[in-house]
Amino acid sequence: MNAAVQHIHGAEAPTRIHHYINGQRVAGEHCDLGKVFNPATGRQTGELPMGDAGVVDAAVRAARAAFPAWAATPPVRRAKVMFKLRELIESNADALAAQLTAEHGKTHSDALGEVARGLEVVEFACGIPHLLKGEFTENVGSAIDACSVRQPLGVVAGITPFNFPAMVPLWMFPIAIACGNCFVLKPSERDPSASLVLADWLKQAGLPDGVFNVVHGDKRAVDAILEHPQIDAVSFVGSTPIAKYIYETGTRHGKRVQALGGAKNHMVVMPDADLDQAADALMGAGYGSAGERCMAISVAVAVGDEVADKLIAKLAPRVQALKVGPGGEDVDMGPLITGLHRDRVRGYVETGVDEGADLVVDGRAVKVEGHEEGFFLGGCLFDKVQPGMRIYKEEIFGPVLQIMRVDSYEEALARINAHEYGNGTALFTRDGDAARDFVQRVQVGMVGINVPIPVPAAFHSFGGWKASLFGDHHVYGPEGVRFYTKLKAVTSRWPTSIRAGAQFVMPTNG
Ligand code: NAD
Repeated sequence: MNAAVQHIHGAEAPTRIHHYINGQRVAGEHCDLGKVFNPATGRQTGELPMGDAGVVDAAVRAARAAFPAWAATPPVRRAKVMFKLRELIESNADALAAQLTAEHGKTHSDALGEVARGLEVVEFACGIPHLLKGEFTENVGSAIDACSVRQPLGVVAGITPFNFPAMVPLWMFPIAIACGNCFVLKPSERDPSASLVLADWLKQAGLPDGVFNVVHGDKRAVDAILEHPQIDAVSFVGSTPIAKYIYETGTRHGKRVQALGGAKNHMVVMPDADLDQAADALMGAGYGSAGERCMAISVAVAVGDEVADKLIAKLAPRVQALKVGPGGEDVDMGPLITGLHRDRVRGYVETGVDEGADLVVDGRAVKVEGHEEGFFLGGCLFDKVQPGMRIYKEEIFGPVLQIMRVDSYEEALARINAHEYGNGTALFTRDGDAARDFVQRVQVGMVGINVPIPVPAAFHSFGGWKASLFGDHHVYGPEGVRFYTKLKAVTSRWPTSIRAGAQFVMPTNG
């Protein structure tokens, strides 16, 4: 096991977690301390220095100092670091996954999936020399050539959520760094240690000190990032109210910002769909990672009562039988991230009952033997959810799947389009005509046809619509390259013996 991983994972007493600045671990002696838990046991495993404006400034200064040399490093050499990082992540994937389970709680197999999806972005970043090639036109005018090149922005920051402590940072920094930027990561304060493992591996891969930095903390550190005059751009992934705040504050301070927010993802099940396939998809997409995924399906829209009744008959016994326990064991679902969040999700289940939805499966009483202090909640299934209910309008982010009954495909589409969020959606059908219509008319950024979680591959880009994304760019893939670079257009002419003399009209290329 990698030493960095073992150090964090195996400790009994709370381990001091460090910032990472200019290639060094920094204890943050003067910082307030936060607590990091193992959600399966409910015990504190780490103490976290909560960075302030001073710590952020130290990281930004290190990044700014490293920037000129890194930006001038040929893209082929920057790509070599990514190739090395790729090898390190692949050969230590198991250890990184164990680290994710220890602080996040997700199952080991799910954590391996997270690592694999992050690794894809590193692989994409290995192709950066090709991606930065730019465009060239010979003779835009007589003996005049023009080219467009993409250059790095400078220092960019990433602020990331708890639910993918490795994958979401990996959506951002491989492309940002490969493009020639320096990076300051502010990971979630609830599961911050994976970011340090990645920092160590970047160093082993040959990344110069200062190019990648990690500052821990909460709102105080985030505000210092948003206000820092030497940070050029901010990538954010998290909940919608914070995403909106990040976008508004960051842009007010003159930064380029992409801020991805929350979700309420609907999966429409048509009468002609294969209902066994649909039920399998709903189990995985609704309860995988205990529903703590921004692409989780939280609403199944059944077209017709017959579809709804059949789906519930298939789902209810499976939800009841979900194996819940520590993510390191052979289970379907681990704990939620904190006791507070578990209680919040439980509160939503109570609200749903009060609002009049049918609670078909109630997971609130689930206990995990030997882990009574863990933050567990069993799978819950609601039927007859109505559009005006809070449990439908708001993001719950837990193992709570809702069935909404509609009479027609048009009604299903209208419900999705009327919802505040527009991250992901899916249609299950055998009808190509309906599928094509859905793809064209649905107001959602990522669409699956018979695919419940349509997370785009790393060489496409990821992003929602409406309140699920603030800003103009999606993350990773070609959009990542656009976000982390600025375009420069160059027009050149070399002196000839023919002089045109001073020209006072607008130059044209004709
Ligand atoms: P969160 O919004 O609470 O936190 C995200 C980040 O913002 C963290 O780094 C946190 O420290 C910081 N933060 C929290 N409160 C802040 C405040 N008041 N001011 C400034 N910064 C603050 O999100 P979370 O609970 O960590 O993650 C879950 C949320 O993230 C869900 O809403 C989920 O849908 C969303 N998410 C979205 C995507 C996507 O791609 N759209 C992906 C993953 C998660």
